[in-house]
Amino acid sequence: MTTDLRGLQPQHPTLYQLAPDGESLEFLYAQCPACRKLVFPANVPGCSHCGDPLQGAEKVARPGGGKLLEYVTLHVPLLPGMEVPRIAADILIEDGLVEEGVIAGSDESALHVGMALRAVAVAQPGGETFACRFVPAEGAAR
Ligand SMILES: [Zn+2]
Repeated sequence: MTTDLRGLQPQHPTLYQLAPDGESLEFLYAQCPACRKLVFPANVPGCSHCGDPLQGAEKVARPGGGKLLEYVTLHVPLLPGMEVPRIAADILIEDGLVEEGVIAGSDESALHVGMALRAVAVAQPGGETFACRFVPAEGAAR
């Protein structure tokens, strides 16, 4: 586990970037010029809150994380090469914004609905990219 994530590229560079601490992720939003709410991902064609076309919308990076809404452990790979078991979750990342995420590890006993999660970078096989995984935020330095 000596991989320096700073040398790796994000698997989805339009969605997140590595935070200055070299471990956490920042999510990339657009701030709607009409209603001032955050929109994710930043490259959507219009504001998901008010429908504004987001012309000239400002891009903002915020610490990645959210609230766990529900989760399920997958035991069958849905895609070739997908690691199982894995825990798929619906996560409220901002007011009105729910995204699907993957929880780090395969232990559901550490999870409960409503808990705070934070997004971290996990190196992917091949050593060139990192992906977004969620871990419990409780006890994490903020
Ligand atoms: Zn809007």
